[in-house]
Amino acid sequence: MDTEHLDWPFFDERHRTLARELGEWAPAHLTHAQGDVDTQCRALVRRLGEAGWLRHAVAGTSHGGAADVIDTRAICLLRETLAWHHGLADFAFAMQGLGSGAISLHGTPAQQERYLSRVARGEAIAAFALSEPNAGSDVAAMACEARDTGDGYLINGEKTWISNGGIADFYVLFARTGEAPGSRGISAFIVDADTPGLEIAERIDVIAPHPLARLRFADCAVPRSQLLGTAGQGFKIAMQTLDIFRTSVAAAALGFARRALHEGLSRATSRAMFGQRLADFQLAQAKLAQMATTVDGAALLTYRAAWQRDQGHNVTREAAMAKMAATEGAQQVIDAAVQLFGGEGVRSGQIVESLYREIRALRIYEGATEVQQLIIARELLKGASA
Ligand SMILES: Cc1cc2nc3c(=O)[nH]c(=O)nc-3n(C[C@H](O)[C@H](O)[C@H](O)COP(=O)(O)OP(=O)(O)OC[C@H]3O[C@@H](n4cnc5c(N)ncnc54)[C@H](O)[C@@H]3O)c2cc1C
Repeated sequence: MDTEHLDWPFFDERHRTLARELGEWAPAHLTHAQGDVDTQCRALVRRLGEAGWLRHAVAGTSHGGAADVIDTRAICLLRETLAWHHGLADFAFAMQGLGSGAISLHGTPAQQERYLSRVARGEAIAAFALSEPNAGSDVAAMACEARDTGDGYLINGEKTWISNGGIADFYVLFARTGEAPGSRGISAFIVDADTPGLEIAERIDVIAPHPLARLRFADCAVPRSQLLGTAGQGFKIAMQTLDIFRTSVAAAALGFARRALHEGLSRATSRAMFGQRLADFQLAQAKLAQMATTVDGAALLTYRAAWQRDQGHNVTREAAMAKMAATEGAQQVIDAAVQLFGGEGVRSGQIVESLYREIRALRIYEGATEVQQLIIARELLKGASA
């Protein structure tokens, strides 16, 4: 994997070392995943945990985390590297972080002790349950309800598109508790997968297979000790969690795009046609130039957002720009790589063919591109006057 960007000033020496170490570890440890997608995913979580990479996905050194706060540049470099090597490994890493992020940020010491160290060791699989059949982009339209019963909560409703649904050991769940209308009446809970009343209503197959499900809650009782933060704070907790991981989606897209550029370059320089190499034609060169420029642009936006967050600045606008530019750009870069491969580009099992499927959902989840455009425009217009 090309690592020139590690010399950029966004990184400290520890980031460079981390990325290089994972780059050396990944090829030997990620390629042998066998079995169905659930089995592969469980094995990858365990492997990433045993090797210590998941320590970066949680906060708190006393709970197995690599640092006391999540290092955004570290998770971005790890995701970029994992995505370059193995899409499902990137997914497994990302979900351990996203699924436990609210516990890292708002968990009580007892909640952190119980969940985070197992997540960091790869012994418990985490999931983040926010979306519903009628509340995707419009999170505040959430209908799943958690009724206060005095000593706990009774949860009723559905969640869908839940990554790790079916294999998770616990779900960080967002449900309406009604303290106020709209987004101010939502709370966050940790729900263990074996809690009575929680069932997997449907497993969902997608073009880049990973564990995904619709969950149904029917009089699912959770004790008050499973509430995260305070009641009514759930929307804020969800947005804070997404704020960290949104930039890392950009990093994953960057890893896919960088891999596509690598594959495209190697194909263009090895494919003979019309008495020369594909790379000798200016039309192919234009494609490669555009691919490389898109990759570097996405990398600059991604690591600017990550660096800025690690300096303690607000990154609402920067993270949205990074996510939009990196995911949309990666789609174009990967498409160009498929084109350079000709018929081989769409053959099942080709790297560029799997990248083509892997990238698509990143333009939709954790805020579709259109949602990022609205966020960027809102931030721009805040400071604009006529
Ligand atoms: C593979 C995958 C994994 C996922 N994993 C998780 C998970 O782990 N946990 C979880 O909670 N959710 C998860 N999701 C759900 C994801 O976050 C939602 O799919 C996403 O928020 C979009 O919601 P929706 O699917 O309901 O689409 P809708 O909200 O119906 O949006 C459809 C489209 O409308 C457009 N749009 C949206 N808003 C606007 C607007 N204001 N103006 C104009 N156009 C707009 C966009 O193009 C958008 O894609 C996952 C989804 C996928 C596909």
